[in-house]
Amino acid sequence: KNIIPLVLALFAFQICTAQKNQKIEIKIDSLLKLMTIEEKVGQMNQYNGFWDATGPSPKNGSAAKKYEHLRKGWVGSMLNVRSVEQVRSVQKIVVEESRLGIPLIIGFDVIHGYKTLSPIPLAESASWDLEAIEQSARVAAIEASATGINWTFAPMVDVSRDARWGRVMEGAGEDPYLGSKIAIARINGFQGDDLTDVSTIAATAKHFAGYGFAEAGREYNAVDIGTSTLHNIVFPPFKAAVDANVKTLMNSFNEIDGVPVTGSSYLQRDILKGKWNFNGFVISDWASIREMISWGHAKDKKQAAKIAATAGSDMDMEGYVYIEELAQLVKDGVIDEALLDDAVSRILRVKFELGLFEDPYKYCDEAREKEMIGNSKHHDAVLDMAKKSIVLLKNENNVLPLKKEGQKIALIGALAADKNSPLGSWRIASDDNTAVSVLEGMQSYKGNELVYKKGADVSVGSTAFVKEVKINTTDKSEFDEAIKAAKNADVVVMVLGEHGFQSGEARSRTDLQLPGVQQDLLEAVYKVNTNIVLVLNNGRPLAITWADKHIPAIVEAWQLGTQTGNAVAQVLYGDYNPSGKLPMTFPRRVGQVPIYYNYKNTGRPTNKEGNVFWSHYIDSENTPLYSFGHGLSYTTFKYSNLKLNGKQFKIGDDVTVSVDVKNTGAYDGKEVVQLYIRDLVGSVTRPVRELKGFELVEIKTGETKTITFKLDKETLGFYNNQGEYIIESGDFKVFVGGNSIHTLDADFELN
Ligand code: BGC
Repeated sequence: KNIIPLVLALFAFQICTAQKNQKIEIKIDSLLKLMTIEEKVGQMNQYNGFWDATGPSPKNGSAAKKYEHLRKGWVGSMLNVRSVEQVRSVQKIVVEESRLGIPLIIGFDVIHGYKTLSPIPLAESASWDLEAIEQSARVAAIEASATGINWTFAPMVDVSRDARWGRVMEGAGEDPYLGSKIAIARINGFQGDDLTDVSTIAATAKHFAGYGFAEAGREYNAVDIGTSTLHNIVFPPFKAAVDANVKTLMNSFNEIDGVPVTGSSYLQRDILKGKWNFNGFVISDWASIREMISWGHAKDKKQAAKIAATAGSDMDMEGYVYIEELAQLVKDGVIDEALLDDAVSRILRVKFELGLFEDPYKYCDEAREKEMIGNSKHHDAVLDMAKKSIVLLKNENNVLPLKKEGQKIALIGALAADKNSPLGSWRIASDDNTAVSVLEGMQSYKGNELVYKKGADVSVGSTAFVKEVKINTTDKSEFDEAIKAAKNADVVVMVLGEHGFQSGEARSRTDLQLPGVQQDLLEAVYKVNTNIVLVLNNGRPLAITWADKHIPAIVEAWQLGTQTGNAVAQVLYGDYNPSGKLPMTFPRRVGQVPIYYNYKNTGRPTNKEGNVFWSHYIDSENTPLYSFGHGLSYTTFKYSNLKLNGKQFKIGDDVTVSVDVKNTGAYDGKEVVQLYIRDLVGSVTRPVRELKGFELVEIKTGETKTITFKLDKETLGFYNNQGEYIIESGDFKVFVGGNSIHTLDADFELN
């Protein structure tokens, strides 16, 4: 009885949405009828905004042209315009001076916060905490929208198995299931429930598609993957994003199988806009339409424009291809004006949905800007996210948590005092050196004697423009002081890892060890004091095999953003019990990469003793150093009683799986309970394990909780080599545990 008002409300809401959508479609149609070909092309043109927004800047040669184009209504969007003042001034030009006054949509790379920074996305993903991740994106949207921005180029949902690729820091790691859930959380955080609300912004799922599979992890490289990998591994987070109503997708710099994806009709028209029914728009990546010329796929800009527009790339990011070529191509009859109408409708739709036509200046409120940027609530939220992102990789002899009193602690490593590196890459709007350093975080605990020694620099300066990092590979002159401090200490905390700009776009590496002289520093300190806690700062998995063998406690602290030092100190001192789990496999050596948990068996499978017959390296084990899903706690959890609601099921039935998890240690804690399946025989071979469910649960010491999962049509099937989703009968295995390796298992059969 009680449900009736709810159903009616839902019904009313649906009617209301349908009416609203219908109204928008009518408005789009009438607007299109008024537009000239040039104005349509203008909507498909996005300019970068590095110029004096009140007019052409003498510093930027193309600014005069951009300014002129704004006045003519030949610009649909701008990126990198920051501050309410700048946004207002460009919006004013198009609204007041152009013929039709169509407002701009203002884009920006809001990747892990705007001014107040959250952990880098890979770190956040280690929390497996979807609510916290959504909240983090919400905070980013609130700050960004308060500066006039209404569209972010995030989340990056590229699955990647290659730690050499610098952009793994920006994604959710190696798994399509976890990646899909995180994509949805981020999109919900950015876009909220109501896109017309001034604190929400349109999101972008990027980079469609395959960018994370760049050959050899080298940025922008060609991608060569088969249909099965494309559909089962690369597509799912994008599909999830589209189902979550993401407003835009960005295509990517790479080619797949010989076709630059910016020019791929298969990806953009057949899959995205066809099969998935996406009704938002596709933004190119920065000049990726023009880059088809260097790929050798288009002979000049004219051909590039034709290929990209035909393939469904709707907006050209700072590429000058559409604005210079497209109108003439239509006039010459080379491409149909209907292609423009389709692209422009999509772009206008998002502008209408954002409410920009009602009020183009709605995001331009100086008072809100002042109130929201750096708001103390945002600091609380990013601190919470930072603590949740930390992964305890190793903790022997209970070195951690640290005692709060009576200890002499030596804190060593340049990164320990660094206020910049922990901010990570992709933080265009934030100020440098604004992170709480680990040193500062630890200094707030007063009960111990803390001595800080740098030991060695990580980098020796960086060039201003691209922030290229030069690593210190020679200077060990401050080793001795650090060694002396370590000798006199009860416990040594060493903060080592990557400089904040060693990961991110265009930062591929061929080496995954601790950069520069840091490994030597670690070994030198270890010689005088073995009681070391190693705190890692990094934007990608590292191959720290020596450290794993010798160092008793290792904490993965990534780059945790503005509140880094407070988060790390609270975890080290046990005021926060870590619960993060790796979203990406850590290799023993770089030569194992790409390495991932959901690999396939070869024809030379593992025998009972765990040895792999011939399909191995002669100089390394096959296994990872730390597996996907691995992460410890200050407490311990025991899994038991794995149960299924049957042994035999029909295709289409749900399989219910339950397990008991007991907190057997001395601390209350949180555990990410993970469920994997294996489909034993497939018409397309199936991975040895696939994540199909997880739950983050809080369990008090001594308490047992029963966790229940459901396997259904969505999780039991896979895509075949024709890209069709199928569920096959046969034997399955289910695995449940606290990581992807040490699990309980059970069997069932589908018929
Ligand atoms: C990146 C995109 C980014 C764009 C705009 C490109 O180089 O690949 O991810 O959104 O620049 O800054």
